[in-house]
Amino acid sequence: MRVGLERGLLDGFERALINNRLSMVYQPKVRLSDGKLVRVEALVRWEDSRYGSVPPSRFVPLAERHGLIDPLTQWGLRTTLRQWLAWCGEGLDTCLAFNISALSLQHLDFPDLVERMCRALEVPADRLVLELTEGATQPLIKLMDTLTRFRIKGIGLAIDDFGTGYSSLMQLRQLPFTEVKIDRFFVADAPESRDSRVIVKAMIDLAHGLGLTVTAEGVETAEQLRLLRDLGCDVVQGYLVAAPLEPERLAPWSAALPERWNELLAA
Ligand code: C2E
Ligand code: MG
Ligand code: MG
Ligand code: MG
Repeated sequence: MRVGLERGLLDGFERALINNRLSMVYQPKVRLSDGKLVRVEALVRWEDSRYGSVPPSRFVPLAERHGLIDPLTQWGLRTTLRQWLAWCGEGLDTCLAFNISALSLQHLDFPDLVERMCRALEVPADRLVLELTEGATQPLIKLMDTLTRFRIKGIGLAIDDFGTGYSSLMQLRQLPFTEVKIDRFFVADAPESRDSRVIVKAMIDLAHGLGLTVTAEGVETAEQLRLLRDLGCDVVQGYLVAAPLEPERLAPWSAALPERWNELLAA
């Protein structure tokens, strides 16, 4: 049953989805070794006339509970792939990261659907990385078959918010991930807390030992950036480097990146 606020929010969300009133913003991920833009992560936004700006942490779980997660995922992926084509037209060549709810992975044919969407728009599948956060109830190991199908198609797989929730070392070893994203909680603490630094260093070494790329999320200060570089992290993402951007802002941001990068590392 849809009750009270949940019902109002759900109706509003459903209308926004149907009437194409959701939007996507894109947050850059930058390689530490050379300051190159390696990917952009698509993040969905919903601005409602009644509820104002509703964060995805609020409406994604709502969509999951009420059978709207697949339409949301398909809308978001199509929008993001089209945006990639538009950027290509402007000479901006980057890879895409897209957040997927573990619920969508329960359909064994989901990898085929994603591949068909890439083909239809002529976006090479190996330009796409899917970011997965473990659900509270479902360990990712149950999704082994679906995850393997993505990898066979050349689509990358990142484990998001690593170090929180369930993500165990066993899963890292057994599942076909290509990237680990260290949760911003550890990044925030690292300059002040020796314990957090030890954990971050261990996560980086572990991921590298297993052949995975390491991204640090939520980098907000130059001190964190330099620390992550010194600890051997591969890629950084966070407000210091760039907030999530409207699509038309990516090209100017990218043009200004080299100069800004040198300033950040020298600071
Ligand atoms: P996430 O994938 O871990 O994304 C990172 C979140 O941290 C984003 O919040 C981003 O705006 C925010 N962030 C980025 N840099 C910083 C920073 O330096 N400091 C701080 N404090 N925050 C930073 P957002 O956009 O509200 O998204 C929250 C979560 O919602 C995402 O976490 C992701 O799990 C989910 N999500 C977002 N878009 C989608 C989507 O299209 N589909 C699905 N299934 N989930 C989505
Ligand atoms: Mg993510
Ligand atoms: Mg994350
Ligand atoms: Mg997160």
